[in-house]
Amino acid sequence: MNKLIFLTLFIFLGCRETPKTKVETSTMGIVIHGGAGTILKKNMTLEKEQEYRAVLTKAIMVGYNILKSGGTSQEAVEKTIHVMEDSPLFNAGKGAVLNSNASIELDASFMDGESLDAGAISGVRTIKNPISAAIKVMEASPHVMLSGLGAETFANENGLEIVTPEYFFTERRINSLKRVQEAAALKETTMLTEEIKFLHLQRYGTVGCAALDLSGNLAAGTSTGGMTNKKWNRIGDAPIIGAGTYANNATCAISATGWGEFFIRSVVAHDISALMEYKGFSIQEAAHEVIHNKVAKLGGDGGVVGIDFNGNIMMEMNTPGMYRAQIDASGKLQVKIYKDE
Ligand code: ASP
Repeated sequence: MNKLIFLTLFIFLGCRETPKTKVETSTMGIVIHGGAGTILKKNMTLEKEQEYRAVLTKAIMVGYNILKSGGTSQEAVEKTIHVMEDSPLFNAGKGAVLNSNASIELDASFMDGESLDAGAISGVRTIKNPISAAIKVMEASPHVMLSGLGAETFANENGLEIVTPEYFFTERRINSLKRVQEAAALKETTMLTEEIKFLHLQRYGTVGCAALDLSGNLAAGTSTGGMTNKKWNRIGDAPIIGAGTYANNATCAISATGWGEFFIRSVVAHDISALMEYKGFSIQEAAHEVIHNKVAKLGGDGGVVGIDFNGNIMMEMNTPGMYRAQIDASGKLQVKIYKDE
C-alpha cells in the first residue's frame, strides 16, 4: 500500500509542469555598429579615428556593465544606443543627417527576443532619444510602429525627453547636405564619378546594438537619421522590424546599417534569423549569405551586427568600413572601423 502511495505521488510530482523560471546561462555578449559605408583610412585623420573609437568604447562599455551586473539585454541596448544618439559623430539623435528641406527626421526600432514584442517610430523631429520612444511604443501602446507628429505626441505623453528640432543639427551635416545638393545640381557632367559616388554614400553613421543577457534573452535596436537629402518623408530599413532590426531567443539578435531600400527588399535582419531557424546556418554563415549573396547582388551595400543565443558574435559588411565594437562573454573588447582590420 505504501508503495502505491509513493508511486502515485511520484507520478503526480513528475507530471507537474515545470515552473517557468528563467534559465541562468553563463554566457552573454554585446555588439554595436555606428554605420557602414565608404569609410577609408585616406579620408580619416588620426584624431577623428580616435574620437570614433573612444565613443564606440564608451557606448559598448555602458551596455557591457549592465549585462555583467545581471541587467537585461533591453536595458543594455537602450543605454548603449543613448551614448551614440547623444554623440554628434553618428547619424542618429544629435548629429543626424538632413533631408532635402534641411530638416531632420529620425527613425528607430527595438525588438525583444523573448516575447517577440517590438516597437518602432519614424519621421520624428523632437524626441531626444528615438530608441527609447521605440521601446515605449512596444511597452505602452497596442501598436508596433508610430510615425511623425503622432509618435511625438505619444512620446511626450509618456514622459520621454522632448527637445527643439535645432538640438539635432550639426555644422558637419549642414555642410554634407550642401555638398550633396550641389552635386545633384551639377549632375554627373562636371563631377568625377568617384566623387558622385562618395557623396551618394554620405549617409553613414546609423547606430545599432544587439545583446545577450545572462538570462538568455536577446534584444536588438537601431536608430538613424536615414539618408542625406532624403525626400517625401522617406523611411529606410532602420525602423522596419525584420529589415533593420530583429531578435528571437531561438536564433539571434540583429541590427543593420546600409542602403535602406535594399535592406527592406532583402528583409535582412529576419532573413538571417530565418536561415538559422530553418536551415541550421550559423549566425556568421547566415549573415554572409544575406549581405554578400542577396543584398550585394541586388546592388545594395551595408553591414550587420548580431549575436546568437550562444553568445557568438557576428559583424559582416560589403562596404569598405563599418564603425563597430564587440565584447564577448570573456570580456574581450574589440573596436574596429575598416573592413580589413
Ligand atoms: N539604413 C539607413 C537608412 O537607409 C541608413 C544607414 O544605415 O546608413 O535609412
